[in-house]
Amino acid sequence: MNQRSYLDYNATAPLRPEVREAVIGALALHGNPSSVHAEGRAARAAIEDARAKVAALVGARPENVIFTSGGTEANALALAAPAGEASWHCYLSAIEHPSVLSGGRFYRETTTIIPVTPDGIADLASLAKKLEKHKPGGWRPIVSLMAANNETGAIQPVAEAAKIVHDAGGILHCDAVQAAGRVPLDMAELGADMVSLSAHKMGGPKGVGALVLAEGVTVEPLIKGGGQEGRRRAGTENVAGIAGFGVAAELAASGIANMQEIAGLRDALEEGVRAISKNAAVFSAGVPRLPNTSCIAVPGAKAETLVIGLDLAGISVSAGAACSSGKVETSHVLAAMGVSPELAHSAIRVSLGIGSSNTDIQSFLGAFGELIKRLKQSAKKAA
Ligand code: PLP
Repeated sequence: MNQRSYLDYNATAPLRPEVREAVIGALALHGNPSSVHAEGRAARAAIEDARAKVAALVGARPENVIFTSGGTEANALALAAPAGEASWHCYLSAIEHPSVLSGGRFYRETTTIIPVTPDGIADLASLAKKLEKHKPGGWRPIVSLMAANNETGAIQPVAEAAKIVHDAGGILHCDAVQAAGRVPLDMAELGADMVSLSAHKMGGPKGVGALVLAEGVTVEPLIKGGGQEGRRRAGTENVAGIAGFGVAAELAASGIANMQEIAGLRDALEEGVRAISKNAAVFSAGVPRLPNTSCIAVPGAKAETLVIGLDLAGISVSAGAACSSGKVETSHVLAAMGVSPELAHSAIRVSLGIGSSNTDIQSFLGAFGELIKRLKQSAKKAA
């Protein structure tokens, strides 16, 4: 079989070889990290080494990193209603990942959606207006705004949002699952009180992530039991997964410099798509985006047909959000941006990463051009 072109890094990034080594190495650490004996201490050391690396990726203190089973759990933990006396009202941007939009433990009546602009950027004027009603001593706002959207790559104004939220006496959670390792992230610069991360989007193993807290922020545990993770997440730790996450985070931090090159490949891809169809839409093209993400649609060309046709040609991309792939649903992200359902059903997401090359882009454009040509011919015949 010819080499395939994997262009679906936002669904999951291939495991980095160094990560694989670290995971295999850590599987041999048979001690329970809570045990005081030598075997336990060796497992604990692997976890604490990884914790320091994950913390460094976002400029946090290691003790503020809570390892979880992934980005989904980190988001749920962030939205589990913070510990303490206050009553909270939850605000979520309309383009959040479904694991945030579920609202954690917040009821529908205590959750408000913040709209986005047609470019897919959270409308901060709307957020500020909604937060005006919060008075000192009353209900406090907890706001979730992602660092970058998984479908369009649009980078969100998190630092500006944090200022608005803090001025209203609230706290801000940021789902940085897609941004981490693709753009520089610093907890202090973001102004976020909590940041979610997931290992598998940055070449780590699946099933491990973290919620990182700013200084002094506390959370109400979702999983109670033993005292692991500073009593914030019970259960014997996934030592091998966490060790792999640490290495992935370290590689991601040092690999951000390569992102310029990846943005160049992404731009070449979009230029090629526009040459194939002058009607092609590139969503969020006018705003800062992740360097690796392109969400494109050619009117009349169904995403499902393109994804299957590209797969047969050896190219892996997603239709809309990969988390909902397998069933073709209208993207809630594109719907929130005001994209028509017809055009949204044509949207495919191409997402690049460290292993992507110009050959992948050329293979994509060759196959994509062929598919669009065939679709146009059959539409002409049917007319
Ligand atoms: N948040 C975003 C923005 C994502 O794209 C994803 C996965 O696609 C998640 C959260 C969920 O992360 P995980 O797969 O680790 O549960």
